[in-house]
Order: sequence, then C-alpha cells, then structure tokens
Amino acid sequence: MSKKPVAMIFGVSGQDGAYLAHLLLSKGYEVHGVSRDVDGTSFGRLLRLGIKDKVKLHSGDLGEFRSVISLMTSVEPTEVYNLAGQSSVALSFELPVETFESVSVGTINVLECLRLLKAPIRFFQAVSSECFGNTNGPATEDSPLRPRSPYAMAKAASFWANSIYREAYGLHVCSGILSNHESPLRPKRFVTRKVLAAAIRIAQGSKERLVLGNLAIRRDWGWAPEYIDAIWRMMRQDAPGDFVIGTGRTSSLDEFVGAVFAALDMDWKKFVDTDDALLRASEVMQTELDPGKAARELGWRANSSMAEVAKKLVACALNGSLGPVPWSSDEIVDLDPAA
Ligand code: GDP
Repeated sequence: MSKKPVAMIFGVSGQDGAYLAHLLLSKGYEVHGVSRDVDGTSFGRLLRLGIKDKVKLHSGDLGEFRSVISLMTSVEPTEVYNLAGQSSVALSFELPVETFESVSVGTINVLECLRLLKAPIRFFQAVSSECFGNTNGPATEDSPLRPRSPYAMAKAASFWANSIYREAYGLHVCSGILSNHESPLRPKRFVTRKVLAAAIRIAQGSKERLVLGNLAIRRDWGWAPEYIDAIWRMMRQDAPGDFVIGTGRTSSLDEFVGAVFAALDMDWKKFVDTDDALLRASEVMQTELDPGKAARELGWRANSSMAEVAKKLVACALNGSLGPVPWSSDEIVDLDPAA
C-alpha cells in the first residue's frame, strides 16, 4: 500500500492556507501547518472552516534555514506548499525589506532543503499576477515580469528561484501565478472586503461614506476556493511547471463596487467618495490574463466571474456561510460570521 500523502503548508493561517488545508483533508492527506508562533496565533480561519483540530500545527519560520530543515526532516512531507509571507501590495510600500525577506528568502530556504534532502517532494509556490505589472494584452506564463511594487518584486524573485532550481536540480517545483482571489476569509485590508463591509453597513442604515483610492484600476478577480483547486491540479502533474491562474476577464474597481451595491439593491454612486491619500506610490492600472495553459493542461477553468464573486461575497455576509468550494464539502457553514 502506498504511503498516505503528507502535506506541509507554510502560511496555513491565511485565506489560501486554510482553504488548501480543507481541500487536502477532504482528499485524505495528513496535513501539517506551519506558522511563526503557534501559541500566539488564533488560527481563526481554520476554526471557521471547522478544521483547526485536524491540522497538525508547528511553529516555524521560513526565514530560518535551520527551522525549515528541521521541520522537513521530522515531518517528511510528500508535498510542500508555500503560501507564507507578507501578502499586501499596499503594505509592501511601508515594509519593503520585511516583504522581500518573508516572500523570497523563504522560497530559497525551502528550495535549498529540497535540494539537500534529495527526496521526491513536490513543491508549490504562490506567485502573483502583480509580477506582470501593467499588461499589454492577456499575460501568459511566458510574458515578461515588470514588477511595480516591493511585493511584486519579491514574488518575481520567488518565481525565478523556482525556475532556476527546477532546471538546475530537476526539482518538482510549480509556480502558480495567481490573480486576485477573494472570499469571506480574505483579510479586511483588501479592497473587496472593505467594499463589502461598508456596503452591508450602509444597507443596514449606516450614514457613512465609502472612501476609496483609484476606482479605474482593472483586475482579474476570482473566487479563492477555485484557485485552490487549480493549485491541487498543478501538483498532480508528472511534469512540473508554471501556470497563470485567473478568470481571463478583467473589470475595473468601480464595476466591482457597482456589483456589490447592486446585489444589495443600491446605486453605488450615491455612497462612494475617492481620496488621493489612498493612491499607491506606483500602481498596476491593468491586469489582463490568459489562463489557457491551465485549461489545456489541468482541465481547470474559473467558474465564477467578478460579478458572481461580488454576489457570493454579499450572500455569504448576509447568510453567515463561507460559500461554495469545488471539492467534497460544497457549502461551508461559517461558525463565526461576524469575524
Ligand atoms: P492587492 O493590490 O493585490 O494587494 O489587492 P487590494 O485589494 O489591496 O487592491 C486592489 C486594487 O484596488 C489596487 O489597485 C488598489 O490600489 C485599489 N484600491 C483602490 N482603493 C483601495 C482601498 O481603499 N483599499 C485597497 N486595499 N485597495 C484599493
């Protein structure tokens, strides 16, 4: 009988880490999650998914090679997923060094471990479509990377580290170049959650104004659990590679805001202001992606458009669920909808 698959997830406390742990548990994996300080972390997302007691949690720091190798040798994972690191573009302008180190040094430490251990371990690294900068037509896996933020610079370094180690040492390494993907588990500093929270309060009678930065930016917004399914499919391939993951459609922020307010029967223009203080030092105005390789090689396509994502986020906020996932549990009941 083959050994039970063992996954190690760096960054298990975040949106993607929590959904991935849920998917892997549903597939019968032994799931290990790493976070900087297990005793000092609440793991609210694992609690909301009802899986905190099913994930084996370890304190560890990707920036410390010693920590990474001792975890890898004691757990002996068959698959490693790196979703850790400072994940906000806006915050990366305030914390450029912390962002660069937490994202890129961590990737290199894992790759060095894999190289030393010589075990047949598969590795997934989350990269971001922010790395493309402003796209000139739909970006593919071969499009140039032109980062416009410290966050994108760090993710580009991870991408290139993966490519180098895959070619130089034959490691089974996949980079997922993921567009913005949203869910009720997204942290509140991201624009989708900010818009949703204000729109719900306004619908319930609040007199506040929703103040945003640049409404003209265009992004490819998708539904996070579907992206986790894409990551899972990537790791099943015999030959590792890079995959652009997105819906293939792009929308402006004002279209997203309009969709959220429309789902609550309101006209967004009556409630929204802009403030130049919220503009970024440099901005990606347009992200357009071609996820054709994922469709061809992984059989993966995003089911939810931006408009459906907006509707789902509103429905989840109103009915206290976490919405659908494309694996065995279709709808996850949210134990703590206020969180
Ligand atoms: P990220 O850029 O991938 O980290 O995702 P965000 O959700 O933070 O931002 C997405 C886009 O929305 C960016 O182009 C932001 O400049 C733009 N945006 C406009 N107003 C706001 C705002 O008030 N908060 C945030 N977070 N983003 C905003």
